[in-house]
Order: sequence, then structure tokens, then C-alpha cells
Amino acid sequence: MLHKARSLGLRARVFEAGSGVGGTWYWNRYPGARCDVDSLEYSYQFDEALQQEWKWSERYAPQPEILRYAEHVAERFGLKGGIQFNTRVEKAAYDEAMGRWNVATSDGAQMSAQFLILATGCLSSAKLPEIEGRERFAGESYHTGRWPHHAVDFGGKRVGVIGTGSSAIQSIPLIAREAKSLTVFQRTPTYTVPARNRPLDPAYEARVKSDYAGFRARNSRMPNAFGSDFPRNEASALSVDAGNRRRAFEERWRHGGLPFMGTFGDLLLNGEANAAAAEFVRGKIQEIVRDPATAARLTPRQTIGCKRLCVDTDYYATFNRANVRLVDLRESPLEAITPAGVRSGGMEHAFDCLVFATGFDAMTGSLMAIDIRGRAGLALRDKWRDGPRSYLGLGSAGFPNLFIITGPGSPSVLTNMMVSIEQHVNWIAGCLDWMRSQRHSRIEASAQAENAWGRHVNEVADRTLFPTCNSWYLGANVPGKPRVFMPLLGFPPYVEKCNEVAARGYEGFALS
Ligand code: NAP
Repeated sequence: MLHKARSLGLRARVFEAGSGVGGTWYWNRYPGARCDVDSLEYSYQFDEALQQEWKWSERYAPQPEILRYAEHVAERFGLKGGIQFNTRVEKAAYDEAMGRWNVATSDGAQMSAQFLILATGCLSSAKLPEIEGRERFAGESYHTGRWPHHAVDFGGKRVGVIGTGSSAIQSIPLIAREAKSLTVFQRTPTYTVPARNRPLDPAYEARVKSDYAGFRARNSRMPNAFGSDFPRNEASALSVDAGNRRRAFEERWRHGGLPFMGTFGDLLLNGEANAAAAEFVRGKIQEIVRDPATAARLTPRQTIGCKRLCVDTDYYATFNRANVRLVDLRESPLEAITPAGVRSGGMEHAFDCLVFATGFDAMTGSLMAIDIRGRAGLALRDKWRDGPRSYLGLGSAGFPNLFIITGPGSPSVLTNMMVSIEQHVNWIAGCLDWMRSQRHSRIEASAQAENAWGRHVNEVADRTLFPTCNSWYLGANVPGKPRVFMPLLGFPPYVEKCNEVAARGYEGFALS
């Protein structure tokens, strides 16, 4: 966004809480952190030379490599000078008379700007569990989303991990190899499919790079903005017999990664189709995990893909190790963190290190962390008390000249984030440029357009199985958070709508 704003001749300044660039890849430095979208897709496409010259080492890039990439981009385009690091935005208030946003930062500074763009991330507000005694633990404790910058040595230590989402699934196999003992506290068993990560095939890389623009265009037409090389099979899982269904799941299981959910077109639309996919993965767990009681505890019963599917390397097999134990919190509820460790089901588990892999206050957490005041002092926290309300996920009524990158109500977390981020950056930049050419100084989503958009986002979700489980897409992981499905399903129709809105002079927005 900074690069794009500068290219329009605008003056822009970025505030960043971290001491460096990279966002998610700056904060999430836990062992095993890597992307689960192919690296040739999980990258910027705005500059042909950049995408041609950068070399990824693996099918799925590890966190340090993605961080190096972010740093390279910042250097290459001279962006660092425009970013004020180690600075949190604490308050932003719209001054109607001046038509400007007044922004207060953690270093005590105040400044104003005509436009305010929130690029605060969907999964950046780390969430610790609401467990009594957390601060009393005497050993080392870490949250996967706030990992220290120094290496953490688990060698010879007794380690406890709380949580079994994507971050836990990636870190558990590596921590298990190092630690003396590892105890995993599981509240909800997770479906995870093998990553089949490997060094990037040079022939594949060459093929993609011979027509990168074509590759990008094909991916942007995919429902989740990635995966055109192995697209979703649109047929119903129920249109083939059990043997063919199994062979199809097996083929995708062997291919590895998120395309598993594209084995058939109706896995997230039809309960029976979904049950077939879930049963296939349950069968894999029984095959991989040797101890039947542990396998049973690891076996999920909910809709597969309803919580975000995880992608792993050796997750289930890790429970065959002699130094790894699983505690099922449904049998032994978590009672407290004690100075020595964790008490669950009346039993004390002693640890040297505790890892909280307990996720994020997703999609709204980092927006709500800022005291944002729109027209007439309206607080975004109050306006969104019953759930986020936005038009296109880009703007919100009552908050003129404020844009959100990958905000709730846009496809964001259901897509390749890099693609969604660039689509929003381009749309916002296009809007700013157009406003300038039309001599407009103010833009604000109309309440009517916003209400209609909110209904649309929910209607689309209600046609699927997504609302059937307690996922962070619904805010269900944060006690007291309103249950609203926040992202919009379907990238291509969303892009079409955004383009149409722009082509019609920013229909649904009031301009003056
Ligand atoms: P998450 O998916 O929200 O998982 C959090 C885990 O902690 C869940 O197993 C949850 O159990 C458990 N938990 C939370 N509070 C708890 C409590 N009070 N007591 C016991 N257990 C508790 O968080 P995440 O693993 O950090 O992943 C978040 C998202 O980030 C992912 O879904 C994905 O979109 C993204 N991510 C992507 C990658 C990748 O690209 N490979 C890697 C990491 C993360 P319940 O299920 O019962 O709530």
C-alpha cells in the first residue's frame, strides 16, 4: 500500500508495532512455521522482475524465508524509510470539520491525515487462554503468535503445548524431536492432511515463470484465489461409488495440502459428502497412530474443513513417539496453570516450558485494539458490538476516508492472503486516484449498502456447512464474541463486485 500510494504521488506513512516488516511472518517464529499455500503463489505479483528474480527453496516456504522475502521487498522498493517501527496506533479520530483523521501513537506523537488505511492483519491479535493462574507459571512460556526472536532450546526439557490448531500442528512434531517429553493438551481434535513439502522442482518453477502473469490470472479465478494447477473437482462426492470416492481422496491425500478439500465440489455444501471426506481422514488416523486409545482421542467428529483444515508434516505419527503424550481436555478439563505446570482433570503435569498455541482474536481483534472514532465520535468498538459491519470489507458507514485491507466481509482468510491483500491495495489506490481526478475529498460507505452487504456475506455462508462448528471464522474461539461469519466465501465474484462498484463511480459509497 505504501509503494502504491507513493506511485500515485501521495505522501504516506506506515506505523508498525514490530521492529521489522513481515507481519504474520515477523511474529510467528515458532518451530515449523511455514506457509501452506505454494510459495510460487504466496508472493507479490505487482512487479514482474521481482517475481522472476526471487527464488523460493521449497514447495511451502518456511517462515524465515518468507520474512527474508518481506525484507527484500521493503529494501528493493525503498519502503523502510516510510515505516515507523516499534509504534502502535492507539487512537484514531475523524475530525469532520477538517475532514482529517487525527492519529495518536504509542510514542506520544499526534498527526493527521486525509485517509486512514488499516492494514492490521486478520490473525495478529494473539489470544491467550482464559485459564486461572497463567501468570504464576514459574517456567518459560510462549505464545506461537508472539514467538521470541532468539532460538528457544527445548533440549532435555519437559514441554506442554496447549492447543491443536494449525500453529500447534506445525510445531508439535519439531518440539517432540527436541524435548525430553512433550504433553499435548487437546480440546478439539483436528483434521490435518499431509503437506508433502519438498524442494521446489526447478522444472515446475521454470514453467510457472515462463508465463507468470497467466499463472496468476488462472489462480485469481479459483474460488480461494489459489491452486489452479490442481483445481477443485466440481462433481459431487455422491455421484461416484465408494471405491472411486476413496481413490479420489487417496489421490489428493498423496498430492498433499489444502487441495484435499477440492476432491469433490460439495464437501462443504453437503453433510453426506463431507462425512465421506471426514471418514477417509479418520481412517488415516487409525492407520498412522499405533495406540488405539490415542488414535480414538485424536479422531475428530465435527465437519471437516469447517474449522480451517490443517496441513502437517508427521503430526499424527508424532503420537507414536515414546516421549509424547496426549491429554484430552474433554475427559480431563483444564483447571489451572500452576507454578509447576498445568492441572487438568485433577492431575498435575509439571513442565519446564509451556507453549500456548491458542490462536487469535481473528479478523476484528487488532481493529478493536485501536480506539477508532468516526463521525460524531462514533466508536468502531460500539458500532461492531454485535459483529463487524462493513461494505465490501473495505469501508464502514460512519467512518469516512477509512479503508480496511482484508477487512471482515471480504474473502481474506479464505483465500491466498497475498492475492487478497494486493486486490485491496489496488482497489483502494484506484479509488484514491479517481477521487483526486473527480476533486472529491471524502468517501463513506452508505448504511444501506453496508446492510445489504452484511446480509449477502451471511447468505453465502448459510448455503454452506461453515456455520456448523465453533470456528474462529465465527468468532467462536473468543468467549463473548458475537457469533457472526466474518469472511466472504468466493474470491472471483467478490472481485467482480468490487470492480463493478468502482466502474459505477463507487456505487454504495457517498462521495463529496
Ligand atoms: P487456532 O486454529 O485458533 O487454534 C487454537 C487451538 O487452541 C485450538 O486447538 C483451540 O481449541 C485451542 N484452545 C484455544 N483456547 C483454549 C483453551 N482455553 N483451552 C484449551 N485449548 C484452547 O489457532 P492457530 O493454530 O494459531 O491458527 C490460526 C489460524 O492461523 C489458522 O487457522 C490459519 O488460518 C493460520 N495459520 C496458518 C498456518 C499456515 O499457513 N500453515 C500456520 C499457522 C496458522 P478449540 O479448537 O477447541 O477452540
